[in-house]
Amino acid sequence: MFFQEENSVGPQANHISQRGADPISEIQFKTCVIINIDGCRKDLLYRLIDESRMPVLGKLPGGSLRFANAETVFPTATFAAQASGLTGVYPCRHGIMSNMWMDRRGEETPVYDYTGSFFDAAKVYRYNLIGFPTLVFADTVETGLADSHLSDGVKTIYQAAAENNLTSVTAFHQFEKGASRRVRPRPSDMIRYFFGNYFPGQFEVFDESMTTRLITDMQEHGTPDIIFIYFAPADGTDHWQGEKGQEKYLEEVINFKLERIIEFIKEKREPDSTLYVVYGDHGHSDVSEDKEHCISVKWMSSVIGSVPGFERISHHSARGKDALIAPEGGMAAIYLKKPGCPNWGVLPDEEICRKTAENFIREGNGRLGAVAYRTGESLEYRLLAGNNPMNINTDAIISKINREYRHINAPDVMLFSNYSEGWHFYKQPLMATHGNINPGDLEIPVIFYGKGIKSKIDTIPVQIVDIAPTIASAMGFSMDNTDGKVLNIKE
Ligand SMILES: [Zn+2]
Repeated sequence: MFFQEENSVGPQANHISQRGADPISEIQFKTCVIINIDGCRKDLLYRLIDESRMPVLGKLPGGSLRFANAETVFPTATFAAQASGLTGVYPCRHGIMSNMWMDRRGEETPVYDYTGSFFDAAKVYRYNLIGFPTLVFADTVETGLADSHLSDGVKTIYQAAAENNLTSVTAFHQFEKGASRRVRPRPSDMIRYFFGNYFPGQFEVFDESMTTRLITDMQEHGTPDIIFIYFAPADGTDHWQGEKGQEKYLEEVINFKLERIIEFIKEKREPDSTLYVVYGDHGHSDVSEDKEHCISVKWMSSVIGSVPGFERISHHSARGKDALIAPEGGMAAIYLKKPGCPNWGVLPDEEICRKTAENFIREGNGRLGAVAYRTGESLEYRLLAGNNPMNINTDAIISKINREYRHINAPDVMLFSNYSEGWHFYKQPLMATHGNINPGDLEIPVIFYGKGIKSKIDTIPVQIVDIAPTIASAMGFSMDNTDGKVLNIKE
């Protein structure tokens, strides 16, 4: 960062001044504040802003560009989508297949579950958990578990920024690769987050800790060029309390935490050259809040069991098994071992995947909205929607899946629960979830604020992978080889 001054009087500066008549090239943001709200419902956030119930956003300087048609990647699961937001590439390139996935060709075929097991969740935040039930957190991990799974050759926005001598800080996020400073939750925060699922008041304490620790970090070490603020509990409030719960959380908690952080940054970095970006990683859809609409692993195993060659199912362990089910909200991933093959590295034939998918459609009995299956080594998927109870645009969805998700570690069969009748794959009743292929899960809020940003509600289709390259471009560097494009955000 000490080289910036030199550059500004070097040949590049002369070059820019020669083009000085063009107002667009003059606006180059020196600071970017990225505000990521996990699981934020698009229409809800936009309505709260319009009703002046998120005043912190209304007070941001400059124009405000809101995208009305922004969508996340497939699958609509936090880890896959968060990685795409930071790298600008689809899951088939960054390799984070979902919150749960199996490394099909890895030694011992490991299965990762970033959120379901406390051990893996601790590793995401660079802790090792030793000695259950005493919960001793050992500080021995240098790279977070999810970070370590990002494909080589894919860069985070922090890495691209660092190559251009820009500094960054990230707060409480699952992906920190390349960030100059990484503020992570304390063990007590992590335990609190887990308790938040049962005692919602704990979520606010968690975000209070994130806010305080991020500000303390910036007080002690300076305010960097890129600041990534992550409100994780917005997702949990919606799962457990539905849209009303998220609405209350945005208005009564996030607004005020964010205000404290932004007030701090405004004093340290020039407001006129600060870009603010607000986005979510996936949406949420309401489901029936009763035990009857939880689609059980037992039922799924019974359907897979009817395919010759497959008998046992196990959750979370692939070794010695013939099939594996990973249920996540609106989607259940099914991995099938090729019959007669000793290991998981060989993909099952199209026929076995198709038959499994057809069996699920036939025996679904209202539970399923659609089923996708893989057609073999081409890694391409087909979609069966039966009588299409969710009214899915099947052509658009299958193109999206094939564009973003063709990867050896993607599942062989994917079940999508029928939201129209309230079905989901979570093990216990909840009010809302995601992971499915319907508009509610796919749509995300995306807003840019800053001096020189156009004030508009833009209806062009935007994707989560566009965010990182757009920020990079607005700050004067580029992210090579992304799937996303640079959006036109300037006046
Ligand atoms: Zn969630």
